[in-house]
Amino acid sequence: MSELAEVAVDTKHPAIKGEYYYIVPEPLKEKLKVGSRVKVPFNGRTVDGVVIGFLKEEEAPCDFSLKEISAVDERYVLPPFMLELAERLSKYYGAHIIDFLKLMLPPDVSLPREALYSAAEASEAESFRSKIQGEVFRVIKDAGPITSDDISKILGLPPSKVKGALSSLVKKGLVKKEFRLKIWDHYEDDKKPVFPPQLTSEQSKVLEEINQNIENEKKPVLLFGVTGSGKTEVYIRAIEKVLAKGQKALVLVPEISLTPQMTERFRSRFPGRVAVLHSRLSDGERFREWYRIYRGDADITIGARSAVFAPIRELGLIIVDEEHETSYKNMEFPFYDARQVARFRAELQGAAVLFGSATPSVESFYRAVKGEFGFLKLTRRVTGKPLPPVEIVDMREELKAGNKHIFSRKLCNEMDAALARGEQVILFLNRRGHSTFVLCRDCGYVLKCPHCDISLTYHMSDKKGKCHYCGFEVKAPDTCPNCDSRRIRYFGSGTEKVEQEIKIRYPGIGVVRVDADSTSRKGALEEMLWQFKSGKAQVMVGTQSIAKGLDFPRVSLVGIIAADVTLNLPDFRAGERTFQLISQVAGRAGRGDIPGKVIVQTYCPESLAVRAACQYRFKDFYREELINRKRFEYPPFYFLMNLIFTGVDNDKVEAAAIKVRKILEEKGLQVKILGPIPAPRFKVKDHFRYNLLLKSKDQESLIRAGDILKQLKGFDRKVLLSWDMDPQDLM
Ligand code: ADP
Ligand code: ZN
Ligand code: ZN
Repeated sequence: MSELAEVAVDTKHPAIKGEYYYIVPEPLKEKLKVGSRVKVPFNGRTVDGVVIGFLKEEEAPCDFSLKEISAVDERYVLPPFMLELAERLSKYYGAHIIDFLKLMLPPDVSLPREALYSAAEASEAESFRSKIQGEVFRVIKDAGPITSDDISKILGLPPSKVKGALSSLVKKGLVKKEFRLKIWDHYEDDKKPVFPPQLTSEQSKVLEEINQNIENEKKPVLLFGVTGSGKTEVYIRAIEKVLAKGQKALVLVPEISLTPQMTERFRSRFPGRVAVLHSRLSDGERFREWYRIYRGDADITIGARSAVFAPIRELGLIIVDEEHETSYKNMEFPFYDARQVARFRAELQGAAVLFGSATPSVESFYRAVKGEFGFLKLTRRVTGKPLPPVEIVDMREELKAGNKHIFSRKLCNEMDAALARGEQVILFLNRRGHSTFVLCRDCGYVLKCPHCDISLTYHMSDKKGKCHYCGFEVKAPDTCPNCDSRRIRYFGSGTEKVEQEIKIRYPGIGVVRVDADSTSRKGALEEMLWQFKSGKAQVMVGTQSIAKGLDFPRVSLVGIIAADVTLNLPDFRAGERTFQLISQVAGRAGRGDIPGKVIVQTYCPESLAVRAACQYRFKDFYREELINRKRFEYPPFYFLMNLIFTGVDNDKVEAAAIKVRKILEEKGLQVKILGPIPAPRFKVKDHFRYNLLLKSKDQESLIRAGDILKQLKGFDRKVLLSWDMDPQDLM
């Protein structure tokens, strides 16, 4: 009688995704475990899967002819708590278990291997025809098994010479060649340990409370510390404590702040013990880091959002740095929020969670005030230097005075002065590309994406109009495609435009532009940061990515070109985002010995977010924002669930949304239903999108709604329904 395995299968098509039974073939019996990654036949193809359980054939719910598992990856097995986590997430976020298991698995690459040479049995050092062969043979005899690289290092001979000698020796049968997995090597890290600074009294106090929390209560803790108050140093000390107990730590940071600067800091404090996961790793590198973590060789894992799925056993502490960052949320399927996953994971593994930020999310702030989270504060910069003064420039006044330029007169004067003094400037605009739209002055034609119904952004570097939703590109026209007029003009500025303006205004001054376009190439970000750090570039222009964590002591001026970009987003968090952005950006100025200054340009200087951020009135902002959230029934007072209906047929999509609304209403859940409304991103890649927004005071009701929706599978095959629990935006 054969045994069956229950396998979560990655079927590709969402409608048939799920768990299926497979026969365990005899040769694989010993090798298969719960958590094994397998290949299975499915609909005539071979697909990936993960074993989630075993049962006897007679226990199987039905007896149609089952297929056999084709292969198993023997290198690793997902530990039980990861399976449990996947199950929990699938309940919470509505995606399938396999959707989360996939995030937990390493890339499916074969391990890098290397050849090892050893002396064949009974082979004696005879007289060798070539001197090199003799030398190589003696090294192998003494130090083998050994790699050819190591031989060439010992002998100081070029690798090619050694390789030649080796192949002759192998041919003669004097030397054996075997392969081993490169991954088993000890991971080298040549960082010199750095001596830690003496903690300030504020830091010591906070650290003590964190350590106590790790020992005892383990409720999540929010560390609210102004920029430069030494949060990272506190993280490092808390980690030391956890490692001393034989446990491991996970540090989550926003993708973009995973700079060499940041990882260096941990590497130099914990040489050889840090694994780093980020999106710029190749598959091979990612596998290697994953495997080091899996084997327990790395004590600290640092990574962006998806590192929350790293295979860390004996986890003692999870740190979420810059916890307010939206990049912790996966905005596409499977939707998940790394901050929430971190909390689930901490519960499952008995670990503590520490959220840190200079501008906590409104939700975390509220939870901390209510006592649901521990609440710790660092109120002073380590250097004792005050936060830089922030000045608001009302751009309406600039227009009145006849300045249509993207730089206000104030900003220009300050830039002139700072650059003349040899100091550095960071300019910040939360929009990439050159111009946000291209318009014909004669007929009003606007260049749009044919698939997404939004205007194309003009990118100067390759003279193309690009769709920021779907990536569609066209060559920018010289004449109007509609009326042939030559009066085509570019409006709305992006980072490329700012860069261009700087180059015109300050010829000869080095500029780096840091945004998603300029940093897509591997190593590009590192290169630009180096340019700026070394002073080769005096101006940095970038999107919000540069607001985070950068520490450049020679920056004396920070300019926000248009605070309105975030302020005017159709989103209830627009105010929060703007507040956070201004505060974070301001923290980049005046970090060294030169005093800093910040200039914020806006058409809306009276908004709460701008005013509060510019005056560092944090409490005022949170207080007023919470009043608004309560009034309009938003988080943290209400939980949200955004149902997203998509399909190519506009009417069918809308009809499906209306139908689902009826179904949910009939169930009598304690849930408010808003919509259907066309989504703010109404048309993307030729697919229309409608949203239903569910609001509830208790999240259980929303999870129940999710259960109901799961039963609804295939209610209209032309319309895809997915949902976003705790959405970060309603796009
Ligand atoms: P945050 O993460 O809150 O922005 P950091 O931990 O990066 O702050 O600290 C800011 C700077 O101060 C860093 O250069 C760090 O090395 C330094 N620093 C942190 N704590 C101390 C301390 N106790 N004594 C001296 N320098 C410190
Ligand atoms: Zn025209
Ligand atoms: Zn598009």
